[in-house]
Amino acid sequence: MAKLFILSAPSGTGKSTIAGRLVQQLEGIRKVVTATTREPRPGEEHGVDYIFMSKEEFEEGIEKGLFLEYANVYGNYYGTPRDQIERNLKEGYDSLLVIDVQGAFKVKKLYPDAVSVFLLPPSLEELKRRMVGRGYRDSNTQRRLSTARGEIPCAREFDYIIINDFIDKAVEQLKSIIIASRCEKESILKNLKGVLHNEELIGLIEGGDCYVKET
Ligand code: ADP
Ligand code: 5GP
Repeated sequence: MAKLFILSAPSGTGKSTIAGRLVQQLEGIRKVVTATTREPRPGEEHGVDYIFMSKEEFEEGIEKGLFLEYANVYGNYYGTPRDQIERNLKEGYDSLLVIDVQGAFKVKKLYPDAVSVFLLPPSLEELKRRMVGRGYRDSNTQRRLSTARGEIPCAREFDYIIINDFIDKAVEQLKSIIIASRCEKESILKNLKGVLHNEELIGLIEGGDCYVKET
């Protein structure tokens, strides 16, 4: 049973960095490439980091129902293409969706079984340093920081919280969450024949009585 993982955080916390490393290190999961009308940053690639679209193309996409959800973030459109998540689920791949906090809530409502993870910066000062380091203009940094103050309490609504102080540690924690989720009883039982290739054990788990002998 393929799963949907939502990774969310205030802008600049490190979502893209952590997600990029995660999909390189873990089998069976694909990052959902979301669409945006913002200009590519240096080094960003179409189809890898984002699907870069014009405003007109994006608005046409909205009308055609291409997006599971979309939002206007800092003056640009961002949207989650429906087809990628559906294709991954069909092909048996987990999906990792990197998305802002408002988008995370919308997607969790549509996919209640999705596992939601909130990434926290170690401090607001460090968040500011990361924003500046990435080259936002000052006004943008102030706006994004004030948005972050509103988003951080939303961490309480998520299934998991990871503090992104050290990249490697945060990646390990996200990997552990994904691996543990794959072993959840509900997931295993729904797809027993897909994961357990032994008829006798399948028969026992599906139809046997559970009894424990005292020794
Ligand atoms: P987001 O996708 O959440 O907006 P990014 O992944 O683009 O954030 O990261 C913002 C900046 O912070 C980048 O320059 C990135 O290299 C840096 N960064 C990410 N995680 C860490 C970390 N744990 N320690 C230091 N810098 C980090
Ligand atoms: P950035 O411009 O820094 O790449 O992204 C700005 C914010 O938009 C980030 O918090 C990012 O996660 C979010 N974002 C990226 N794709 C989507 C999407 O498809 N939908 C929504 N709602 N937010 C997105």
